[in-house]
Amino acid sequence: MRALCWTTDSGLAVRQVPDPELRNDHDVIVRVRRSATCGADLPLLTGQAPGLAAGDVLGHEFLGDVVEVGAAVRRHRIGDRVVVCASVACGACWYCRQGLPSCCDNGSTDPSTSEAEWGHPVAGCFGQPRAAGGFAGSHAEYVRVPYADVGAFPVPESVGDDRALFASDSAPAGWLGAEAGEVRPGDVVAVWGAGAVGQLAARAAWLLGAERVVVVDRHPARLLMARQHVDAETIDRRNADVTAQLRELSGGRGPDVCVEAVGGPAGEHRSLADRFTGRARLPEAVREAVHACRKGGRVVVLNGGVRHVDAFPAGTVVRKALAVRGGRQHGQRHIPMLLDRMARDELRTEYLATHHFPLDRAAEGYALFRDRPQECVRAVFTPH
Ligand SMILES: [Zn+2]
Ligand SMILES: [Zn+2]
Repeated sequence: MRALCWTTDSGLAVRQVPDPELRNDHDVIVRVRRSATCGADLPLLTGQAPGLAAGDVLGHEFLGDVVEVGAAVRRHRIGDRVVVCASVACGACWYCRQGLPSCCDNGSTDPSTSEAEWGHPVAGCFGQPRAAGGFAGSHAEYVRVPYADVGAFPVPESVGDDRALFASDSAPAGWLGAEAGEVRPGDVVAVWGAGAVGQLAARAAWLLGAERVVVVDRHPARLLMARQHVDAETIDRRNADVTAQLRELSGGRGPDVCVEAVGGPAGEHRSLADRFTGRARLPEAVREAVHACRKGGRVVVLNGGVRHVDAFPAGTVVRKALAVRGGRQHGQRHIPMLLDRMARDELRTEYLATHHFPLDRAAEGYALFRDRPQECVRAVFTPH
């Protein structure tokens, strides 16, 4: 089959790779209908990506049709249209049973790296380096889905492909931002980042009862989208005193909940070396969120690119009695609810698929996504 692979020279290229096969009784094989770019993949374009080998297939946000079913799979049949959670979790370990599937003990086939770095193994992810499990990604004609009863979900007939696609990763990530921030009716919620995850965090905040939702970004076109599609108020950080403006919008106190959803290296000035050696500087958005948040408020950090950073404003967290939480999406828990909301038209996401490319032009799609964030929120690949 054809797939977008990582290469040692240019970074990305569509190559011929072996078809995936069932390896475990809980696997299914999915024929991919849609697969989307993500900021987390951008560093891979450079041709230097520790943990990736030439020929590894990229991509993790996707949906498609089940074409093969392992012997132990109970919830899927050949022909089902399914959306697949971007992260891989077992559904059976202690963390999965606590509703924390992105903290799964068994989701990665190579837990040693994450144990060494973070103290514990965490869930795997499609199309990422070995430390995330080494699962082949979704920018391909077909993909093997492990733990299919846990991570793949049938899409309601009324929900189109471009809408359901975002239930794979962006929508559960956004939902987690609002959930981890414990958004309550009456809250003022500020979200840093008007990409797909930030916009969907803003939408989730509305659905959880927020009274005001404000999105902060430096791309006017994305801010316009946040106003038009999410009904958020917006602040253009290029020419604003963000903290002062947020204070004005929140009765002089500062937002109750601040969600950092900037993601990807395009949003912040981090080099590839920073990203993979753990020498990252604290993204400005995290600092700003901590600074702007009202006393006793909640700060949520969603950007997985944040590794070990210095100059974290610990004193501010102490003096302002802040709760700071992080998290990667728990799609295994949230996707059915998100698909329901999509079917009821409460959650519209198709507008985020700003560009479509046949799989053969996927490298071009990534270049557009990287170079023109003003117009391209997500490039979506159609392999068939
Ligand atoms: Zn992603
Ligand atoms: Zn688990």
